[in-house]
Amino acid sequence: MPADYDPKAFYDGLVRHGLIVPVGVPGAFGRGAVFEDVLERFNTLVSQLARDDGAEVFTFPPVISRDVLEKVKYLESFPHQCGAIYSFFGKEAQAKALAARVNEGKPWGDLLGITDVVMNPAACYPVYPSFSGTLPEGGRLVSMLNWVYRHEPSAEPTRMQSFRVREFVRAGTPQQVLAWRDLWLQRGLVLLTSLGLPARSEVAADPFFGRGGKLLAVSQKEQQLKFEVQVPVVSAEEPTAVCSFNFHQEHFGATFGIRTADGRTASTACLGFGLERIVMALFKTHGFEPGKWPAEVRRRLWP
Ligand code: ZN
Repeated sequence: MPADYDPKAFYDGLVRHGLIVPVGVPGAFGRGAVFEDVLERFNTLVSQLARDDGAEVFTFPPVISRDVLEKVKYLESFPHQCGAIYSFFGKEAQAKALAARVNEGKPWGDLLGITDVVMNPAACYPVYPSFSGTLPEGGRLVSMLNWVYRHEPSAEPTRMQSFRVREFVRAGTPQQVLAWRDLWLQRGLVLLTSLGLPARSEVAADPFFGRGGKLLAVSQKEQQLKFEVQVPVVSAEEPTAVCSFNFHQEHFGATFGIRTADGRTASTACLGFGLERIVMALFKTHGFEPGKWPAEVRRRLWP
């Protein structure tokens, strides 16, 4: 594998080796069996790291309540990434009009109405409402593997509209939550470097919308609320974020009425492994054929 970085060549290589399957929309390709095998094996390594942490395991669908998106003020920060779900609420006559518009190749979105669900934009969002009330003494820890949606169609293969995140959410006192986040930042780096990936951690910011968003990003960086682990996949200068570690302070605790055992507003943190991006980092670093990967990497993934 040459050490140059070319998003198009990398995408074409993934397709040529049957690792991803184009579906005609940028950022929404299918995944082949070998791609999925690597993804599941990496996810298993994460589970092994978390084995003794006592996390509750939740599974959520790829949609969440629109109410949650509104409560966390997602549209103030990330209106450009939102995926609201619209459906048809009309009667017979409107249905005919809708079909006619579609058949004529005309726009038809205005004949739909907003539903109560939206595509889930962050793997951890569905869990916070379930924490409302008083936490047990040691706080809570949840593990999830969720599909998330971001409206950012791109030909660049690591920028997907829909992807999976292996996510953990911790709620408790600020000390509990921060110690846990720092532990995982170390664990994440060790795990990725053990797979031969040139991973490094950086203070980071979320892609807030607009001019006001630039200020939010500066403040987020100053307070070191977000760290990412990055690996070069499509660019040497701008490595791809493959894990993120986020301290939300009391944001979700206050929004959803989550309290610690001693009655204070709870702090929360989450961390997520971007599973497709990690798999792509492995293919970029070690080549498109896992049979030819370095022996020590193969031993980790296929023990
Ligand atoms: Zn999260």
